[in-house]
Parts: sequence; structure tokens; C-alpha cells
Amino acid sequence: MAEELVRTENPSRPEPPANPDIVVVGGGIIGLAVAWQLQRDGAEVVVLDPAPGSGASHAAAGMLAPIHEAYWGEDHILTLNLAASRAWPAFADALGTEAVDYRRDGMLMAAFDADDKALLDNTGDLHDQKGLPVERLRSRECRAREPLLAPAVRGGVYSPLDHHVNPRLVVAELLHRVPTLAVAATEVAPRRVVTDDGRVLGCQQVVVAAGAWTGRLLEVPIRPIKGQIIRLIGPPELLRLPVRGVVRGSSVYAVPRSNGEIVVGATQEEQGFDTRVTAGGIHQLLWDVLTLLPGLSELEMVETWAGLRPGAPDNAPIIGIGNDGIAYAAGHYRNGILTAPITAAAVAAVVQRRESPVDLSAFRPDRFRAPRAAPSPTTAAAEPPRQVSA
Ligand SMILES: Cc1cc2nc3c(=O)[nH]c(=O)nc-3n(C[C@H](O)[C@H](O)[C@H](O)COP(=O)(O)OP(=O)(O)OC[C@H]3O[C@@H](n4cnc5c(N)ncnc54)[C@H](O)[C@@H]3O)c2cc1C
Repeated sequence: MAEELVRTENPSRPEPPANPDIVVVGGGIIGLAVAWQLQRDGAEVVVLDPAPGSGASHAAAGMLAPIHEAYWGEDHILTLNLAASRAWPAFADALGTEAVDYRRDGMLMAAFDADDKALLDNTGDLHDQKGLPVERLRSRECRAREPLLAPAVRGGVYSPLDHHVNPRLVVAELLHRVPTLAVAATEVAPRRVVTDDGRVLGCQQVVVAAGAWTGRLLEVPIRPIKGQIIRLIGPPELLRLPVRGVVRGSSVYAVPRSNGEIVVGATQEEQGFDTRVTAGGIHQLLWDVLTLLPGLSELEMVETWAGLRPGAPDNAPIIGIGNDGIAYAAGHYRNGILTAPITAAAVAAVVQRRESPVDLSAFRPDRFRAPRAAPSPTTAAAEPPRQVSA
């Protein structure tokens, strides 16, 4: 099969195997992390993607925030996110902690006015109920941790367990390790992929990790949720730690990188596959972030961007082997950077018919299908006896 494969453009990337055991469709952080895990477990793997790393993973701020991403009624997501957070140090270590700018500064959530504080207190009750480690801070204590915060800030919550990373560096490191082919899948089956240049690739297992585009390949209700971001640049350590804020009911965050970049985000828009950056989106982000952190106003704005979060109707990812025999690693919505290592470990386990390190029952690929109606007694009686295999 080797002669048939298209060469990747980047010569520093590994060569695709001649007869891959596993074909992963989609080279965002999820597909690449899954492929790398399977490869480390001894499988021959290839990732198909016409533009690896160009999807949501390119837009993401890189917050690894199980605590500040905890919401009422989403206990299964919280459990997954906490397991993901525990998996990150080893994952970052294997890629190079500095190479991916993995930092454990904690994260501050600040409330701008009294109504915003009431919103924060509501989530605080959840933190208390679940015994999650947070420190509730008064206004002055918030500014002691992050002096750039506006004096008007009413209070906040510091979470030492919420870390951050640069997702673009993570993707770059993974691309050095995992072979890719610059083609798109047009049809997928459990052991076969048809590509847009007319080839048919056979393997032992196909994994689909095509982010917001997964619903174009498979019958699964994943939709794109647009997020616009801004990248600023200033002196390193100007912003000491990631700050999230609620500003008059609107959410905004600023996440620093070690090189002085600060990622400001993000809008949440239902606009289909539209990735245009808009004046209104950028205006809202700048308005909110400069209200919260006025000292950022002098920084140079070096980039605006929009990406598409892959979202399922229940906000939970889709992980596991479906009734169609295909392995799914999709729908990671707002937390795909956080959950990449644990998704990789879980998908590798189910593909190798081992027990997953996390309970996947809430993330089953088939959970959106209507249950089949039970056969009526008359139909059941009319059916011939079936052979049952072990
Ligand atoms: C603005 C923004 C901010 C975010 N911030 C955070 C954050 O701070 N922390 C966090 O944890 N998460 C964050 N997220 C969410 C996170 O980015 C996503 O959950 C994650 O990147 C999803 O990764 P993925 O690999 O599934 O998808 P993607 O990164 O979108 O990758 C999917 C890939 O599939 C490829 N593809 C599509 N169709 C095909 C096909 N037919 N054949 C082959 N390849 C195909 C695409 O080219 C793409 O490269 C953010 C997202 C956005 C948009």
C-alpha cells in the first residue's frame, strides 16, 4: 500500500506506515492524541487530514479547567474533566512541558458587578457540594493575585487545579510524532476509508475524530459552535495567570503564554460552518476584557481568529465504539484540549478491547438514537428462534 499513499508535505514528519493497523480521520488535537497513544501502544497508525491542526485546536485558548468548567447537572463531564486534568502532567511531560508551555499557575474567575458575583456564588455552591478545591476571594484579594484587574471587581474564585497550555504547540509536537496524510475522508466504515482522491485504505479499525465535521461523515448530531478570539502580545508575565470573568453577565477570558502572548476569548455563536471574524464579535470581546483588565489596552493586537467547537446536544463528548463498528472520538465542545489525553487513553483501550481508564457509559456514540421499540408478544411469537453466539 506504501506506493499508493500521498506523502505529507513536511519532511520532518514521520512517514506513513505501508499497512496501517489504525486509520484516524481528523488531525486536530483529539485525532493526533489518539493516534499517538495507539502508536505508543505498538500499533501502526496514520492520521488523515487535508489541513491538520487547523480546526478548533488552532483557535483554543488552552485552559485545562475542570473546576471553572463545572456546571450543575453535568456530573459525568466533571468526572471526565477531573480525570483529564490528572492525566495532563504525564502527557505534557512526554511531549516536553516547556515545549508545549504547560503551566500550573491556577486560574482566577472574577465577577465585575454584584449580579456577576451572584452568578459566581451559584457555581460556588456546586464547588462546595462536590468538595472541589477553590478559594473564594474578596476584591482586594483578587487584585493581590492579579494586579491588572479593575478595582471595581467585586470578588472572585481562585482554582489551583485549573492549569493551561498552548494548544498550537501541543499540535506541533504531536505532528512531529504521528504520521499524517494530507487527504480528506469521504466515506468511512469500521475497517475502510475512502479518500477524496479516490483511494480506499483498509485497516483493522477506523477512528473518527473529525471535530465539528464529524456529522458530515457519520450519523451523529454534532454541530459547529463558533468561537472568535483575539491574540495580544506584550511583555512576558504582564498577566500573571489566566483570568476568566463575568462582566455584566457576559463571559470573557484572558490566558497568558510564556512568550508574552495573551489569548482573549471567546464568543459562542450558532452560525453553522461560518468562520468569519466579525466587527461585533471582536468589539464585544475587547469591551469585556478591557473592562475587566484595563491594563491590556496598550498591547499590540496580532491576530483575530474564529474556530468551530464540536458540540453534541448534551454538551458531552462522544467516545467509544458505536453499533456501526466505528470508533468515535468527537464532540469535545469547550474542553477538547483538556480532555485530549484521557480521550486518547480511553479510545486506545476500547480499540484494543481493554477496559477504559474512565467510565464511558455517558459518552456512548449511540446515545442519541431512538431506542428500538420492544417487539409485541404476537410479533415475538411469530419470529423464528435465533442462534445465539458467545
Ligand atoms: C475559540 C475556542 C476556544 C477554545 N478554548 C478551549 C480551552 O481553553 N480549553 C479546552 O479544553 N478547549 C477549548 N476549546 C475547545 C477545543 O478547541 C476543541 O474541543 C478541540 O480542539 C476539538 O478537537 P478536535 O481534534 O476534535 O477538532 P478540531 O481541532 O476541529 O480538528 C478536527 C480536524 O478534522 C479535520 N477533518 C474534518 N473533516 C475531515 C475529513 N472528512 N477527513 C479528514 N479530516 C477531516 C479538520 O481538518 C480538522 O483538522 C476551544 C474552542 C474554540 C473554538
